[in-house]
Amino acid sequence: MTYIDAHTHLDHCKVDAGDLVAAARAAGVGTIVQSGTDAATSRLAVRLAERFPEVWATVGYHPHDAKELDGPGQRVIEELAAHPRVLAVGEVGLDYHYDHSPRARQREVFEWHVRLAARVGLPLVVHTREADDHTLDLLSKEGGGLTVILHCFSLPEHLDEVVARGYYLSFAGNVTFPKAAALQEAARRVPAGRILLETDAPYLTPVPRRGRPNSPAMVVRTYAFVAALRGVTAADLTAVVRENAVRAYPRLRLE
Ligand SMILES: [Zn+2]
Repeated sequence: MTYIDAHTHLDHCKVDAGDLVAAARAAGVGTIVQSGTDAATSRLAVRLAERFPEVWATVGYHPHDAKELDGPGQRVIEELAAHPRVLAVGEVGLDYHYDHSPRARQREVFEWHVRLAARVGLPLVVHTREADDHTLDLLSKEGGGLTVILHCFSLPEHLDEVVARGYYLSFAGNVTFPKAAALQEAARRVPAGRILLETDAPYLTPVPRRGRPNSPAMVVRTYAFVAALRGVTAADLTAVVRENAVRAYPRLRLE
């Protein structure tokens, strides 16, 4: 039974993707979900998923890149969404911390992806930063019936609400940081049927390697940390995350 890294960016890492996948495999990580952030990186995610049996893709425009989405870009994402190795539309959402795209444009582009996910029947992988209310409002207005995965979960103060809505919560390496008490409490309390774990590599490297580049192999440390928080074994948590992943991503086939 292998670990799953539910969200990563092999193309942002400085190491060759083949080496990262091999290192992950050696560490017991057998499934890696590679996230696209625009048309080119969504195409790349699909290429990586075709090349490596461990890798699966998500496709979409990150809020940072929302201002770039045009008609041809929309057609690329729509076309890729039909590919059998594409698990979800994502990562998409709102980022009011960096504001790399105008906020009104971010909301339009997010809404377009929410509707696309509904139309093609895929889950939605959501990135949200300092935009909690707008993200949750837009999802409740437009996302009815969608499977929603909150990647790099960062809304511990909304835990009860997002659990009540049926969302999946994917915790990244920052849950291991000493000051992340609220996030740790959320990771302890979230119902077993809703938890996923990810690296978001090369970012958010878990303790004790914090500060160095992250990679899918390191998700193992996050499993150990969260398992201890929840008072279960890493093997139990891995089994739970695998069940959740196949429920959240209907196209996913685990080895
Ligand atoms: Zn990401």
